Amino acid sequence: MPPAAASPILPGATLGILGGGQLGAMFAQAAKRMGYRVEAISDVADCPAARVCDRLHVGDYADEAFLARVAGGLDVVTFEFENIPAAAGRTLAGLVPVRPHPDVLFTTQDRAREKAFLVTQGFACAPHRVIHSRDELAAAVRDLGLPSVLKTAAFGYDGKGQAKISAPADIDAAWATVGTGPDGPRQCVLEGWIDFDCEISVVAARGLDGAVAAFAPSRNAHAHHILDVSSVPAGLPESVLAAATDTATRILAALGVVGVACVEFFVTRDGRVLVNEIAPRTHNSGHLTIEACETSQFAQQVRAVCGVPLGSTRQVSPAAMANLLGDCWFEGDGTALREPHWAAALSIPGVSLHLYGKSEPRPGRKMGHLTALADSAEEAVERVTRARRAACSD
Ligand code: AMP
Repeated sequence: MPPAAASPILPGATLGILGGGQLGAMFAQAAKRMGYRVEAISDVADCPAARVCDRLHVGDYADEAFLARVAGGLDVVTFEFENIPAAAGRTLAGLVPVRPHPDVLFTTQDRAREKAFLVTQGFACAPHRVIHSRDELAAAVRDLGLPSVLKTAAFGYDGKGQAKISAPADIDAAWATVGTGPDGPRQCVLEGWIDFDCEISVVAARGLDGAVAAFAPSRNAHAHHILDVSSVPAGLPESVLAAATDTATRILAALGVVGVACVEFFVTRDGRVLVNEIAPRTHNSGHLTIEACETSQFAQQVRAVCGVPLGSTRQVSPAAMANLLGDCWFEGDGTALREPHWAAALSIPGVSLHLYGKSEPRPGRKMGHLTALADSAEEAVERVTRARRAACSD
């Protein structure tokens, strides 16, 4: 059933964003261009959204009085980061529309709940078991086979809280690092290893009226469990792209998302799509929509959460995006910090630079990204990786 009609939130209104990272900053840029005010809610003052938002509220996500004070000035709230206590979203939802609803956050921020949702709704995903102890882990490894991967159920992202188990001898180390926290055992999910052909993702928006608009699936290459390069078109058979788009569309509807969400998939060697993860927000693999599509994922998020018509997701050019991690700021031996060679990167045709304004480069930290447009996805990948090499070389 489509959600009940509500009046659109129009330019001039104030939009709240939970989280102060780069996704919040790029949302704020899109919203401000359209004439909205944006206020971010973050637990740290020095964050990318601080440079862009009209106002930054710094406080504890668990502080209900703080959230209530902030909510008083907002017309709608969305989020840019899912590791926010779902209770904070629920507190806000009692005072102001929160889109997507915090129940979506609750389901997707925990791998065990997310997997249960996928299984119940009949969406294909990796074989898995929910794990509470080292003995359960050993039994599940026997059951699912090797290799397999142990992931914390909560608060994991970019490969944090994961360990690959390639041999029975790895079980104890995996349980010690992933399954054991400062307060004792952590709930985990063990997944069977998928020998995939490639990984893709679909960023899609669902409006208040239930309409869904999906961007073309992006092909994603990871390095050290962190997204490295995304490119569109993904260069896969139409049937695979259609299956991924259809699955993402049905997931957004089943979750009742109002806003933007990203569904990540493994594409198996026999052409099936298995859901890996759902993020109920804009996504790193959608950054290239800023240059490559008629509406960016961030402008689409503004439209969706404000209840105004969704924009066209048509891609106007093949494109590729390469992340710039903090490593790029360090010289070869990994000790001396220096500014990357931006002029060299920008001398390559079709390349755009996005820096998030994070003050401290650290290895593995997402500091920015490069996007390249070209006549084909292959050429865009070649340009964007050449630009990154030029920026990051000694
Ligand atoms: P995740 O944080 O779950 O998205 O995992 C990060 C990356 O690790 C994925 O994008 C994959 O490249 C790899 N990975 C995670 N789970 C599996 C799996 N079950 N089989 C194969 N590769 C995986």
